[in-house]
Amino acid sequence: MLNIKELTIEKAAEMIKKGELTSVDLVSACLKNIEENNKELNIFLEVFSDAIEQAKKSDEMIKDGKGTKLTGIPIAIKDNILIMGRKVSSGSKMLENYTASYDAFVIKKLKEAGAVLIGRTNMDEFAMGSSTENSAYGPVKNPIDPSRVPGGSSGGSAAAVASGMALGALGSDTGGSIRQPASFCGLVGMKPTYGVISRSGLTAMSSSLDQIGPFAKTSQDAELIFNCIVGKDEMDSTSIDLNSFPYPRDKGSSLIPGIGEEKGKVIGVPRDFLKEGVDKEVLKSFEESLEKLKSKGYKIKDVNMPLLKYSLPVYYIIMPAEVSTNLSRLDGVRYGLRKEVGNIFDDYKKSRSIGFGSETKRRIILGTYVLSHGYYDAYYNKAWEVRRAIIKEYESVFKEVDFVITPTSPTTAFKFGDKKDPLQMYLEDIFTVSANIAGIPAISIPFGKSSVLLPIGIQFIGPSFSDQSLFAIEKDLRDNK
Ligand code: GLN
Repeated sequence: MLNIKELTIEKAAEMIKKGELTSVDLVSACLKNIEENNKELNIFLEVFSDAIEQAKKSDEMIKDGKGTKLTGIPIAIKDNILIMGRKVSSGSKMLENYTASYDAFVIKKLKEAGAVLIGRTNMDEFAMGSSTENSAYGPVKNPIDPSRVPGGSSGGSAAAVASGMALGALGSDTGGSIRQPASFCGLVGMKPTYGVISRSGLTAMSSSLDQIGPFAKTSQDAELIFNCIVGKDEMDSTSIDLNSFPYPRDKGSSLIPGIGEEKGKVIGVPRDFLKEGVDKEVLKSFEESLEKLKSKGYKIKDVNMPLLKYSLPVYYIIMPAEVSTNLSRLDGVRYGLRKEVGNIFDDYKKSRSIGFGSETKRRIILGTYVLSHGYYDAYYNKAWEVRRAIIKEYESVFKEVDFVITPTSPTTAFKFGDKKDPLQMYLEDIFTVSANIAGIPAISIPFGKSSVLLPIGIQFIGPSFSDQSLFAIEKDLRDNK
């Protein structure tokens, strides 16, 4: 019997290649896990009824010698990524009946590779949250301990891989929504450099911060997905070709990171930033990861990053500002749920008040406020000034070190209802948001467990375009899981 919970994409691809496994077997095993556990865990909002059909086509592709390592591999898709002809609700009642009229760039790429799209996964409404408790369709339960959250906002995608319902998944990360659920579910989760993966077909939350990225059990698997979906896309004006910016750059320049050291082996620890509010067990694993890295020949160096502490306040100004503008089209007239009351103004009000959940409303109000006349300079412009300073701080740190390391999240997976105060929930993002603010890549890698066996994630942040180097680190940390 196939144990999907343990099976990697690499292994499955090898078995398929040798003829020991078909895509139909693989997809059937995932569907069985879905059938047995989805009701309780609430991971998939929809399981695609043609999954077996897709698998049969993939098996044909393999027979014809046209397969890649992703051909026939079941991948779960976050419910904010468009798949032509299918519903895509972004975890919201507002878009409950919205059907995508085109494929997202990343979906086109997965389809071309012959991956099997198995279903769309539950998420915090419009990707706002850290627990999936903000989904209009009820929260996702963490498969490792169903009394706890899987993280968010891509909690469904993380839980799908952790529970053996898919071998990999796509999520979106605006402030940590791939990395934090990956850390809560014991997976690798990666947020790419801003622009290297097209946002065309991703329901926009905060356009200057959003990126699509992979979830998988290992970084090799995550890299396979990444390599499939990366690429320049003319439909996204911020899209960049990763290959035009090879990393490491400027070989021989005095500005290269870790000069005098082996490339990719100098890791910076922003000590001052890690002092408060972090679980003891998370810190313990973090320190152990540093020891492990040292034993593997890495040099660990403290770095001074006094601006990092402003990342969270900057994020919670820029993000809601962009949310308020992006979601303004969801008014029941142009898009979304429509409730007619009698006049256009009341129609808008009613449609939006029933369509959106409370966290979404909170952010629309906050975003509208920081953009309003008289406050724009004080909040929004100020936040952008600080954002630019944070970018500069990272640039100068990456002249000294190759990567910056932090815990992914200050906590392990918490219980449902534990974080009632929104500010407490926002603190979950303390370590993850700076990578989005700076547009640089970051990965969460599982390392160690808490005393109650909850996974702990360690985050590595790299300079722009170091995406591929980030995947390489996991191998060095792996044998201590
Ligand atoms: N938890 C963060 C928030 O609530 C991150 C969301 C995300 O990355 N989509 O905004």
